[in-house]
Parts: sequence; C-alpha cells; structure tokens
Amino acid sequence: MCIRRSFGIFVLLALFAAQFANAQKSAEGAINERDVRAHMEFLASDAMMGRASGSGYELIAGEYLASMMRQFGIEPAGDETSPGKRSYIQTIEITRQGFAGPPVLSYGTDDGAVSLTHGGEMIVFRMGSPSVKGGLQKLASGGSPEAGKISLVRYDQSDQEGFARRFGALFDSPAAAVLIEETPQLREGWDRSASRRISFTTVKGLNRATQTSVIIVSTAAAEALSKLEEGTEITIGGELSEPEVTRTWNSVGKIEGTDPALSKQVILLSAHMDHIGERSNAPGEDKIFNGADDDASGCTAVIELARVLAKGERPKRTVYFAFFGSEESGGFGSRYFAANLPFPKENFVANLQFEMIGRPDPAVAADELWLTGYDRSNLGAELAKRGAKIVNDPHPQQNFFQRSDNYNLARQGIVAHTVSSYGLHTDYHQASDEVGTIDFAHMTRSINSMISPVTWLLNSDFRPSWYEGKDPSQ
Ligand SMILES: [Zn+2]
Repeated sequence: MCIRRSFGIFVLLALFAAQFANAQKSAEGAINERDVRAHMEFLASDAMMGRASGSGYELIAGEYLASMMRQFGIEPAGDETSPGKRSYIQTIEITRQGFAGPPVLSYGTDDGAVSLTHGGEMIVFRMGSPSVKGGLQKLASGGSPEAGKISLVRYDQSDQEGFARRFGALFDSPAAAVLIEETPQLREGWDRSASRRISFTTVKGLNRATQTSVIIVSTAAAEALSKLEEGTEITIGGELSEPEVTRTWNSVGKIEGTDPALSKQVILLSAHMDHIGERSNAPGEDKIFNGADDDASGCTAVIELARVLAKGERPKRTVYFAFFGSEESGGFGSRYFAANLPFPKENFVANLQFEMIGRPDPAVAADELWLTGYDRSNLGAELAKRGAKIVNDPHPQQNFFQRSDNYNLARQGIVAHTVSSYGLHTDYHQASDEVGTIDFAHMTRSINSMISPVTWLLNSDFRPSWYEGKDPSQ
C-alpha cells in the first residue's frame, strides 16, 4: 500500500470524524449532560448536608465552584488576600444579637409600657438594631415609611397579593423600624421554629438604609398600637445577649471584556449556592434537604455558561460570575455584593440570576424557561429576539421577582431578573428535592439555550432599561 493512498484514507477518516463530532456537538449543544450531572451530583449530594446558609458546607460549595472557575481560566474577583492578589471567595461577617430577657416595647407615659413577648407578640425578626426609638407612623396602604419613624404596617387580609408585594420593599426603608402585623404564614413559621429566638442581624459592609429593623408583631399588638396617636414616641429595647458572629460566603470570578469602549460594562450571571441544610424535625427518615433544584441547578447553569464563555472568544463586555451565600436566610450574600460592587455602579448593565431550572414547568411549553419580572424591563424581550426560549413568569401571584437574589440588585436600580422553570412542584424546600427528581435532558437543553442570547448580550452595546413606572428602586 502506497503512502499516498493511506494518507488519503487518513484525510477522509479525519474529515469524517470532524464532521461527526460537529454533528454531535450541534445535536447536544456546547454543554453536555454528563458535565451537568457531575456538578449536580456533587452539590446536591448528602455529603454536602443541604448546604445550609452560612455553614461550612456553603463554603465547600463556594470552593468547588471556585475550583471550576480556576480550571476554566476565569479570573478570581473575591476578597483581596494580599496586595494585588485576589481569591474567588468573598467572606461576609454577620452578627446576630438577641435579648437576654423579654424585649419591651413602650410608649407614652411610664405606665404605658407594653411587653412584646408575652403570648408571642413579637414573633419574627429580620435585620437591624435591637434598640430603636422613634415617633409612630401609622402607614396607610400604599404609603412609605418615613425617615426616623417607627412605621406600623397592618396586614390586609383582603389583599394578600398586595401585601406580599409591599413586604420586600419595607426592608429598605429609611424608617428607624417597621412593625408589621403578623400573617398566617409568618405565624406558622414562628410556631414551627425550634428556638423561637428573636435575634437581630447586622451584616458588615451594608449601609444603614438596607438594614432597617423589621419586626413582626401580633395582631393584638398591632391593634393596641393602631389606637395610639400618630407621632407617639415608641421605644423598643431590652437587655441584650452576647452578640454571635457568623460568616457567609460568595464565590466570584470574572472575564474581562476586550472592547475599549465596552469592556468597563458588566453583565452578572448568578445563582445561590446555599440551601436550608439538615432538619431534625423533618417528617420521615431523610433529614437532609439536598436542594438539587433549589439551587444546585442554578449554580450548574452559571458554572457551565462560565465554562463555555471562557473557552470561546473573549467577549467585548466584562462578565462576572457570582455564587451567593445565605440567599435562603435573608439574601445576605447578594445584599453584600450589591452594596460593595467591585466596579462602579453605573457600569452595571444587567444581572441574570438562575433559580430552579432542574425540571420543566408544565405552565409553559416544554422547552421554555420563564423570566421573573419579564414585563418590567426590555431585557427579556431582547433576549427572546436573540433566541432565548424565555417567556413571562406564569405564576405572578407568587411574586418570584422579589423572591431571589436578583431583587437585591433590582432594588438598587440594576436591571436584574431571575431565569427559572420552577413549576411549583411539591418538593420545594423539602428533603425530597433530590438529584433523582432532576430532568437532565431539560436542564441541559435549557442551559444550552441561553448560550447564544448571553453571548449576544456580552458583545452588544444594548443597555436594558426598566419600563415606565416598573423600576423597583423608585
Ligand atoms: Zn432558591
């Protein structure tokens, strides 16, 4: 056999092989199911114990994703560890402080003091300072809390949706404190919680405006307060326990853009790496809440998009990849990120958060994803024009737009939405949210479907904007 001929066969074989590989690639997309499975099986394994917010397991998830970013050649964009050197990990300090004795709410004269703990009157607490003082502001529906006031918000049973919509916005008010009348859900949460401890959370690196004290009070307490005169001086305080300092983490990387005019502009792709951990009071044998769909699936989407983007031609704009900690316990990771942006805020073009894309949503077509707040900005429609299979959120009554990390950025005016296909399945926040329930074909197809629209966004000069009256920061 002559060498020419065998060379010819070799060339033919090589061409055939290349063509075959291309056909495979276009059938499967750049992201394959095996890699998707690999991340999911690690992140949602029992070894990760449910990645509880602020636990060592959350940090392990962050280090795993950091290790992937290192492997893909993505630059670290977390804390500066020594001059000029960065880690992927961002450490955030959280302080929790409760009361040693019963907290007291008092008003008017000395004998008018009302204790808020008798009968569980003060049932849940979120963020801020445990000692507050200010004039009472009785908030009519639609009003906003005023600076320095103690604003009372009563729960309107006839307008649950409206109440849920307003709830998130109350956390960023300039008021000294916002007292919110209990809802059946909040009461249930309190009754179920093991510690029933009222504790106040402050996050280092957040400004005062994002740490308003929000206190849930019983209907009885709300009634008593609403009988007081507007402006009555209210004091809340008590003997404090020792502060407890804990941590949570973000894992952050970036690819710098190449275009002189566009490289300063930033697109953020994000997901949350924490879930709700292990619960000894869970019904049944299984006590580990693996959080496969919520939100190992979102982390997998972001890390696989990172892999593809790092492998391709560098984009014109800069892209950040952020995996947030403590989304489930108050969105602390994303709040911190939003308050300490590693670039000027005016350069922040848009954020896409990925949440719960592990199964298709029967409320939309089988290959579709939905975007929370689709009708609030022109980003969703523009991505859809570039091939993204995203439609409007079919569950507006659930207020998903306000229920993920994107909202902490949206409240700062950044065009920020969440991509999801959560079909309200019953494994949500249950020990049964496991890898075994994931539809890998759907998940892989979904992530692949976002490659070209995201690549377009990273290379275009299109700046999305909120529609008139739809900016959550206004
Ligand atoms: Zn989630």
